[in-house]
Amino acid sequence: MTAITRADCLAADRADALAAFRRRFRLPRGVTYLDGNSLGALPAATAPRVRAVIETEWGRDLIRSWNRHGWVTLPGRLGDKIARLIGAAPGEVVVTDSVSVNLFKLLAAALGLRPGRRVILSDRSNFPTDLYIAQGLARLLDDRAEMRVVEEAEIAASMGTDTAVVMLTQVDYRSGRLHDLTGLTRRARAAGALILWDLAHSAGALPLDLNKADVDLAVGCGYKYLNGGPGAPAFLFVARRHQALLAPALTGWFGHAEPFAFDSKYRPAPGIARLLCGTPPVLGMAALEVGVDLSLEADLASVRAKSIALTERFIALVEQWCPGHFDLVSPRDPDQRGSQVSLAHPAGYAIVQALIARGIIPDFRAPDILRFGFAPLYTRHIDVWNAVRHLRAVMDGNEWDRPEHHRRQMVT
Ligand SMILES: *Cc1c(COP(=O)(O)O)cnc(C)c1O
Repeated sequence: MTAITRADCLAADRADALAAFRRRFRLPRGVTYLDGNSLGALPAATAPRVRAVIETEWGRDLIRSWNRHGWVTLPGRLGDKIARLIGAAPGEVVVTDSVSVNLFKLLAAALGLRPGRRVILSDRSNFPTDLYIAQGLARLLDDRAEMRVVEEAEIAASMGTDTAVVMLTQVDYRSGRLHDLTGLTRRARAAGALILWDLAHSAGALPLDLNKADVDLAVGCGYKYLNGGPGAPAFLFVARRHQALLAPALTGWFGHAEPFAFDSKYRPAPGIARLLCGTPPVLGMAALEVGVDLSLEADLASVRAKSIALTERFIALVEQWCPGHFDLVSPRDPDQRGSQVSLAHPAGYAIVQALIARGIIPDFRAPDILRFGFAPLYTRHIDVWNAVRHLRAVMDGNEWDRPEHHRRQMVT
């Protein structure tokens, strides 16, 4: 194989159909950001938009803004926009709460839709909050629910007559492995179970068609590839066919049929709105809307094609320049990989710290994984080149082994 050159990367950037999107973000000089899968970058339009919401809508129009500026309908309107990114219909998605809280709400509702079945099935390598939430719910429901985790490869075979709901994350946060959403959804349906997909590392990074795959339930994250900002509200999806049957566990007033009737008895809203709970975080939603609008301008097939080109180039450059240093944790087949590449090394934490000191920002996932995320709207091929060049420098001189790079911080 011929070696990849810097000129190749620059040529790929010149030919990039998505290149213009990078200017729509405010990226700091001297930083190569490869962690958009954990916290998306700041869109240039976010600060002016949030400022306008603060100064005009909140500051001047005060409480009138709930009607005048449509604050009250924002969870549904923004949900309808996200629906277009994930292959859902209007009225099937709302923006609300965090991924964790939405998992709780949907798992509880799913158990209610499958009386007589008590198992929540997941894979051992699922994201911790997903597992924790299911554990807590199972404890709360005592003998009416049971959390069962199996190895990733055993998921399909473990779906049985006692399975109420299968909970999976489409792109594994650690390995970047892309689960077969369509096949596993079909399998769950054949077993009579519901399926709940966590799209935290998928929404905005790859084309999705939830309705074509007949997905029942889903949750997703606002602050990763949707660039909604730190702690942005999350979203949830409920297929239309389930909505009227679904009994919410968190029966807050925003999920009531008539919140402003101030009725003392709870009655669920007719559609997806019944999964709202409390007052929507308007400022966070305003910021998220800017990120979602940007994603809506991009063609997701092009986003996916560029994501594959970036991850392929990254893997090839690591093999070219750092042979023997790392184990490739992510699947080599790009069709089985999300928009990240994970490498394993026993000194992974220190290597990531050494890269950050050089202005290259990936992240570290315990126990030994260096995780490089590629956000196609703003990551360039030359960024990949720079990242691997610095990675080689950090490895060659054992620069990572300096004491300051071993010091542990709370967020890795
Ligand atoms: C990022 C992420 C979450 C985040 O959950 P929050 O409650 O929003 O903090 C959940 N699940 C997965 C798979 C994630 O990657």
